[in-house]
Amino acid sequence: MKDGVTTVAYLVAGVLFIRSLGGLSKQETAQRGSSYGAVGMGVAILITAAAWMSRGMEGWVTAILLVAALVIGGAIGASLARRVEMTGMPELVAILHSFVGLAAVLVGFASYLSPSAASFDHAGAERTVHLIEVGIGIAVGALTFTGSIVAWAKLKGTLSGKPLLLPARHMLNAGAASAVVVLCVPLVLAEGTGGLPFLLGIAFLACLLGVHLVMAIGGADMPVVVSLLNSYSGWAAAAAGFVLSNDLLIVTGALVGSSGAILSIIMCRAMNRSIVNVIFGGFGTADSKAGPVVPQEGEVQELSLDGVAELLSNAKRVIVVPGYGMAVARAQSAVFELTRVLRGRKTDVLFAIHPVAGRLPGHMNVLLAEAGVPYDLVHEMDEINRDFVKTDAVLVIGANDIVNPGALDDKTSAIYGMPVLEVWKATTVVVLKRGMAAGYAGVENPLFYLTNTRMLFGDAKKSIDGLVTALKAK
Ligand code: NDP
Repeated sequence: MKDGVTTVAYLVAGVLFIRSLGGLSKQETAQRGSSYGAVGMGVAILITAAAWMSRGMEGWVTAILLVAALVIGGAIGASLARRVEMTGMPELVAILHSFVGLAAVLVGFASYLSPSAASFDHAGAERTVHLIEVGIGIAVGALTFTGSIVAWAKLKGTLSGKPLLLPARHMLNAGAASAVVVLCVPLVLAEGTGGLPFLLGIAFLACLLGVHLVMAIGGADMPVVVSLLNSYSGWAAAAAGFVLSNDLLIVTGALVGSSGAILSIIMCRAMNRSIVNVIFGGFGTADSKAGPVVPQEGEVQELSLDGVAELLSNAKRVIVVPGYGMAVARAQSAVFELTRVLRGRKTDVLFAIHPVAGRLPGHMNVLLAEAGVPYDLVHEMDEINRDFVKTDAVLVIGANDIVNPGALDDKTSAIYGMPVLEVWKATTVVVLKRGMAAGYAGVENPLFYLTNTRMLFGDAKKSIDGLVTALKAK
């Protein structure tokens, strides 16, 4: 196949990926964006296979291997995606990032060891640049690989969500990063494949760095780490693109890397965190205590299902605050049914979304969209926070950290400084949860003890179904 055809096809795929990202930025166009991405990837794979086939018998073998890997990997991926619960999605995303990292590491080693590889075709400066690309690709890939595994284990609960703050941890990180850079020197100077031990050393140190950087981040900062690892996986793919001299992989990797970095910055701003702190493994968070459960003043006031139904039937305006518990209870459709019943009674119903609600960026938006909640009822934190004062009732459905007033005034709290939904400013707040358990960050929530807060204990889906029945009977 002519190089020109491949280049044009790669260009088309690149444009489709950019359109895909553009589409994914809004809920209304997200599905179309996703389709653009799938078509772009289809074009990229087909043209890569066709390019190999045009290289004769050896190329055909590579193309067959490519298709076989695709079929096997695609089948595993499709089955995993179909089976995964919405609550398990963050873990799946985190573990998928680790695969990208591992792929970049393997590409780096394969390129270095393969006798036909580019590293031996080049001479002088070109060879040096190529070996540095291999070193960087392996380092970024290894860091992404182990960092994502730690993030996966933390999200799954296999590892504690609390930050691991080793003494002199910043020195350890700086030491490991410097050693990675230093090891690139003997790698470049070594003849043939003699630099393999140095490459292994780079991979080993970057693996340790990935573990340590993510272990140092805890509780409420995890969402930023997940989006940061998404960004790293993009840079790892771009590095693999440089190693393979594949323009499309460079473009795709850069798109993922930069969009992930932008998302991380947006999330950091939303959470009032510094991106530098998160990148360098919680730099400056040494004094934050990881969620002591301190006894609270005041009493928890429970309200019955009928009591809450009565309260809602008298309310002119209700704001619903969904959180992780709504995803666990799979209550989104019931919540939409409740919204319809209330709106049928001329009650104004709005939804308030916190940027880190749930366990995945946009988690709540996806669930509400899936249930059919109209987009114009759904409002982001910044726009809706000023509305709570003029609201009769707030329904907090399985949310905890994102409505914790301690984040604003308790300096000892692990989530201190994170902007939250100021639900307590409404006339009455009803919190739907099963018991008094803490949220992801593991901190006590003073909201539950305020005089205008009422608790409706039980599984969120059952409680909402009960409220719908009670309101319909009125
Ligand atoms: P939280 O994790 O703070 O709280 C969820 C609450 O839901 C729990 O307190 C739990 O209490 C309750 N719950 C669980 N199951 C049910 C059920 N079946 N019915 C009713 N209630 C239930 O969730 P938030 O959404 O408020 O906050 C998100 C947290 O997750 C933040 O700390 C955020 O930083 C973190 N995070 C977010 C990520 C993201 O990208 N969005 C990624 C990683 C972490 P009980 O057991 O008593 O019912």
